[in-house]
Amino acid sequence: MSLEYPKQAKALSRVSERSMAMVRAREAVPVAPVGGRLAPIGVGAVEITGGFWAERRAVNSASTLEHCTSWLEELGWLANFDRAAAGQRSERSGREFADSETYKVIEACAWDVAGAADPQARETAERLYQSLAARVVAAQQPDGYLNTRFGGAGQPERYSDLAWGHELYCAGHLIQAAVARLRTAGEDAFVRAAYRVADHVCSVFGPGGAEQVCGHPEIETALAELARATGVDRYRQTAAAFVERRGRGLLPPSLFGSAYFQDDVPVREATVLRGHAVRALYLSAAAVDVAVDTGDDDLLAAVVRQWDATLARRTYLTGGMGSRLMDESFGDDYELPSDGAYAETCAGIASIMLAWRLLLATGEERFADAMERAMYNIVAASVGRDGRSFFYANTLHRRVAVDDVDPSTPHPRSVSGLRAPWFDVSCCPTNSARFLASLPGYVATADGDGVQIHQYATSRVRTVVRGMNVDLDVETDYPVSGRVAVTIRTDAAEPWSLSLRVPEWADGGARLDGVPVVGPVARVTRAFSSGDTVVLDLPVVPRLVHPDHRIDAVRGTVAAMRGPLVECLESIDLPPGARLEDVVVLPEPPRLEAGRVVLRGVTVEASQQLPYRREPDRSSRSSEPFDVVLVPYLEHAERGPSAMRVWLPLATPDPEATA
Ligand SMILES: [Zn+2]
Repeated sequence: MSLEYPKQAKALSRVSERSMAMVRAREAVPVAPVGGRLAPIGVGAVEITGGFWAERRAVNSASTLEHCTSWLEELGWLANFDRAAAGQRSERSGREFADSETYKVIEACAWDVAGAADPQARETAERLYQSLAARVVAAQQPDGYLNTRFGGAGQPERYSDLAWGHELYCAGHLIQAAVARLRTAGEDAFVRAAYRVADHVCSVFGPGGAEQVCGHPEIETALAELARATGVDRYRQTAAAFVERRGRGLLPPSLFGSAYFQDDVPVREATVLRGHAVRALYLSAAAVDVAVDTGDDDLLAAVVRQWDATLARRTYLTGGMGSRLMDESFGDDYELPSDGAYAETCAGIASIMLAWRLLLATGEERFADAMERAMYNIVAASVGRDGRSFFYANTLHRRVAVDDVDPSTPHPRSVSGLRAPWFDVSCCPTNSARFLASLPGYVATADGDGVQIHQYATSRVRTVVRGMNVDLDVETDYPVSGRVAVTIRTDAAEPWSLSLRVPEWADGGARLDGVPVVGPVARVTRAFSSGDTVVLDLPVVPRLVHPDHRIDAVRGTVAAMRGPLVECLESIDLPPGARLEDVVVLPEPPRLEAGRVVLRGVTVEASQQLPYRREPDRSSRSSEPFDVVLVPYLEHAERGPSAMRVWLPLATPDPEATA
């Protein structure tokens, strides 16, 4: 089948920033759209200097990179490159996508070389980058092909299993790592190797080539970004071709149907994200890339429509996406069981990548709200405080305390009771590592009006607005408190606007310099002088959240949140003898005590008979009310095995008591 490729850009009407190209040229951004509403400010130009994310990033630099590398070495996934270089491919270790874990560590190193706060960490990252990159480059074939699983003596032929082989997926991660290096340090042997990989992919699959797609999207965003970084349009055309081909039944239907691969409906016609969650989100991110760079408003609108439907009907309170363990997929609408929640860490990261692209394209802060939700409640919850343990699946309800992790062995399954050091399929730890390393690139943007701060962290931001240098310092201990102070460090010849996101959860309670302000954006326009300070106060007081009645699995329950943080109850915090499953909470407002969110609750004795009755369950209370002390979800399982739940059953009102 022959497809038409989107015509090259009528310029998007939303493009407003004359200085976009200049901003981008001097800054290292993870995503560099040609069009769209906002221009990202890159790693290095945004420095996160203190607070929550600085701490997480320091652990990522100091522990996670070394930790991941040692597992890659231990399991022979790195040696796969050495064996391929030596022509000894028959002994390969690991799954078909193992190469990609090395590429994600290389990408993390590339970002850290430019963005780690500690100069020592930058040097360490550079050394690690050099050693890993050299081993990868050595494995490249003379024609540019590079994969340790296919094409060698005793191995399957190249591209003989596009549905499951992950060849193009791996190539995509290699290219992404190279783009990070190109933007942070410039061209080198690894970057040139990635050009040759991309050229090889384009020669086989580009316009006029094989009408096929990879079972796991990733090559699409990679080629789109390489086109942006190099100006080579062939990469963008091939990315666009892959996006347009999908949904036309080119892959053999999986056990889980064509929707698993998003090969059931073309991207332009789909109404909601479905199938394998990470695949769906990576594909959508690529569709935004293609849409924005070609001025294809219809394609962009299609992705926004799918995002909106997915957020409204297929997203957990934590921002987690993907309900089903069996095929790591989105479930049906409102199929959001807490105890069966899959919510893979990679899907959380992919949702952030998609939401960021939609934010840049549209300028709408609701996408930054979604990013914040997943950043605190998926990414930060997945990675242990030690940076050496990880959740792959992020359940919202663990019925029993499970001690199933051996820190010296990869966990065999994606679901674990504690954070595991590594997994047989270990996509999530390395994905977290590259995301945290690139995090400064997801904080702030600029346009012709001024600077927009989307995520709050103590940081320094430097950019250019209409030719004026703008430096500012953000001071905050968010999300512990909601006070965000922005101090301008440059004098402006003419007015510009400082825009601060008012999170959806804060609307109605936010203040700007003491004056109530409504969201989604608090904006100050002024010819700022150095030393001017603007203070945004966000109400990070505990609040209850009620689920839509259509989410059957959690009907009749409430959850607590504080600012962006989802709270949960762990059995370790219950009074002696109380069981998590017996706890119901009373309909009283939550309060904050010694930094912990506290509800009131009772335990109710369980029936010893069939647990179904003719009358609604108004069991008599079996305990005196007690304090139900919660912990942020991102800290769950940090104190050892514990039963845990986010959604807490609400005590059924007693009709006699209210009569
Ligand atoms: Zn993963």
